Amino acid sequence: MKIPRIAELPATLASQIAAGEVIERPAAVVKELLENSIDAGADNVTVSITDGGHKQISVSDDGHGIHPSDIELALRRHSTSKLNTQSDLDCITSLGFRGEALASIAAVSRFLLVSRTEQSDSAWSLSFDPVSGNTIVKPAARSPGTTVEASDIFQATPARRKFLRSRTTEFLHITEVFKRVAGSRFDISFTLTHNNKPVLRYRACQDDMIERVADVFGQKFANQSIPVNYEFRGMRLWGWLGGGNLSRSQSDRQFCFVNGRVVRDKKIFHAVRSAFADSLPTGRYPTYLLHLDIDPSVTDINVHPTKSEIRFRDTRSVHDFIHVSLRDALEAVQSLDLNVIGDVPENRPKAFPGHHVHSHQPQVQEAGAFYQNLVSRERQDELLDQRARLGAPLLALNARIVLARRDPDYVLLNYQAATEYVLRYRLRRDYLNKSVRQRPLLVPVHLETGPSEVELVERHAELLETLGLSLRVVAADVISIKAIPALLEEADVKTLLRAVVDELRRSGGNTGPGERLLAVMTQGVGTRKDTPSVSEMQNLLNVLDDTALDTTQRHHKGMWRTLSVDEFSKLIDD
Ligand code: ADP
Ligand code: MG
Repeated sequence: MKIPRIAELPATLASQIAAGEVIERPAAVVKELLENSIDAGADNVTVSITDGGHKQISVSDDGHGIHPSDIELALRRHSTSKLNTQSDLDCITSLGFRGEALASIAAVSRFLLVSRTEQSDSAWSLSFDPVSGNTIVKPAARSPGTTVEASDIFQATPARRKFLRSRTTEFLHITEVFKRVAGSRFDISFTLTHNNKPVLRYRACQDDMIERVADVFGQKFANQSIPVNYEFRGMRLWGWLGGGNLSRSQSDRQFCFVNGRVVRDKKIFHAVRSAFADSLPTGRYPTYLLHLDIDPSVTDINVHPTKSEIRFRDTRSVHDFIHVSLRDALEAVQSLDLNVIGDVPENRPKAFPGHHVHSHQPQVQEAGAFYQNLVSRERQDELLDQRARLGAPLLALNARIVLARRDPDYVLLNYQAATEYVLRYRLRRDYLNKSVRQRPLLVPVHLETGPSEVELVERHAELLETLGLSLRVVAADVISIKAIPALLEEADVKTLLRAVVDELRRSGGNTGPGERLLAVMTQGVGTRKDTPSVSEMQNLLNVLDDTALDTTQRHHKGMWRTLSVDEFSKLIDD
């Protein structure tokens, strides 16, 4: 096997992938190390945990190893063997690419790496101690492959150690990561041990992938789920979907993978959920293990520090493909008059990528999408049980207007205005508590502006920071924004920055205690194009009760109005 060589990323390329912090708990270490083992082409990977990861995390593989001359480079930030050029960044096929996981892990733990390539006579070890800053490289012994050990995580960083939860909790998170990663690669065997005792042992699947599904989600899911295998315009969706009977009260069994990468993507969650229309009651979550394989050049995974979010060039068609495919899968099971609960092993694809591909033309179903937002009578009653003071969601008329049932009346709610209100309320509260959480931008956004604005930004840097905005002056007339409030992560960064600078200019810097800035920052952030789902409506109605608004009022200008059935009748008669 050819050993890929590690090199430091050119500065320009490195700046484009400048990520935020990736190590927030032991499970994050496990995820990064598992990804490295997979990228190294390992067939067998063992994760060994001591004391829930508090004491030690070790991941060992039989992959291609690291070239002896590159051992030290592996630990350097922005050093990677997986990316060389801009065009590689546009078409990433490996799980890693930023070259910073090992550096980040070494920064928060006592770090040991032992690696050997097939060609090399001996292994080399590298140890690094974040307290003394000492790096030691010396010969070692092991079979070809790599072991990385991170001990005493966060010991040297007391601020972070505070966030470590109990051993049991951290181990649960590790198990969760382990299962997700195991669901991504059926051809690799994975072992998890805790305090030297084997906890999970997943064999590589030879010909029946269902074994791994049973490992990860249990035998019941393996028996009762609906196998899925669709292809459309270069996209492929395969895996297993739980019918209504396998739904859960938590969203913990929604595993999705894009090109083998573990992702948690809202658009995909929504597409799957919407395939169930209202056959799943509110508060129930579907279960699935689904892989979407798609041309990597039409995706962008360089959007989130932990690489768990993904952007598609054509989100709409990905959404529709998933929605229509899964609808079809669910309907197929029903129309076959199969008991969804029954065992249907002969329908189950044995191996992927495989045969029995349904070729299939998803169609955008505008009308369907509308009715999908209509909540059935039974479900309304159910929703009324958990109702917010403004009632239970009934229907989204469009992206802006929502109708809720507030017995015996109905409420018309401006969904966007209410969303904006909630965001503003929360941002203000956090601002006043000096606890605005920031979302670092992977790629800082620049804004060209005049020298007087630059001066204003410099003068108010501290206030802006409290508001969650990390701004730097990078040239006489250029401002760069490195982080925005996490609450506003959906906002368009340039527009946000523009609004803030304009407001500073308008007020000549007399912003008072930042209230004006808060107002302009949250202006328009509730705007959306798609109609909200039932759970989104429900959620908003609920959180409105937790704000300063008096939701018992019948009318709030610009936000909602209660109408009785009589008033509706009058509207018709008048
Ligand atoms: P990235 O995965 O983004 O490249 P990392 O910091 O995770 O960055 O790893 C740095 C480099 O170290 C990798 O590019 C790879 O060459 C090497 N490396 C890390 N882990 C392993 C492993 N288990 N086997 C072989 N090489 C590894
Ligand atoms: Mg990596």
